[in-house]
Amino acid sequence: MNKKLIAGNWKMNGSLVANDALVRALLAGLAEAAPVCDVALAVPAPYLAQLQSLLAGAPLALAAQDVSAHEAGAYTGEVSATMLRDFGSRYVLVGHSERRQYHAETDQVVALKAQRALAAGITPIVCVGETLAEREAGQTDAVVKRQLAAVIHLNGHCISEVVVAYEPVWAIGTGKTASPEQAQQVHAVLRAQLAAASDKAARIRLLYGGSMNATNAAELLAQPDIDGGLVGGASLKATDFLQIVAAAQ
Ligand code: 13P
Repeated sequence: MNKKLIAGNWKMNGSLVANDALVRALLAGLAEAAPVCDVALAVPAPYLAQLQSLLAGAPLALAAQDVSAHEAGAYTGEVSATMLRDFGSRYVLVGHSERRQYHAETDQVVALKAQRALAAGITPIVCVGETLAEREAGQTDAVVKRQLAAVIHLNGHCISEVVVAYEPVWAIGTGKTASPEQAQQVHAVLRAQLAAASDKAARIRLLYGGSMNATNAAELLAQPDIDGGLVGGASLKATDFLQIVAAAQ
């Protein structure tokens, strides 16, 4: 069994004052609970420096929410993998559905971003997931397989260096969680696809995301192919996030 990873995705939320209070509450809770899983926080880029300083030496890893597909140069507004590394990012989300949807990120762009992250020594958390229309049309497996296929062969890197997050778009921020069976079914499809590409497939962490909360986390995390969670709304409240971490033992 893989060591679980619980990653909070703050999305576009936070302020210097609010972050300070939230992180201090999390650190106090983690010190008490001494979790056996890995824990990470994906924060907006401007707050990476604040978090890097707050998390120094703590059992809480820093993650970014996006990375440029380019290395450096005339790309106004973009943040490179090297810059994320400078600020202590251990992970970066790539291909989150909100990036695919609102910023027209294609599978190819997502693959380039994953490649940039790996080249900088950062683990990409590659997000895949179907929309409600795709699920209702019976296309769930085909969609997630196409999205995963784009990152399976990255130049000079092995897919085992990547974390994959299955986030059904219809479950994100809606309060509608995939049932443990629904989530496990898709995770098994992803695991099989990874196994066809790598003999280390069993070690690749597959996270579930989409309205994961303190109540449903334990059941989801008990599924054989669910190795952790990518948590949005519930990561903004210390007590909720700590309960999810506690469920990942
Ligand atoms: P919610 O947990 O708010 O549904 O968000 C999930 C998500 O998109 C995490 O990346």
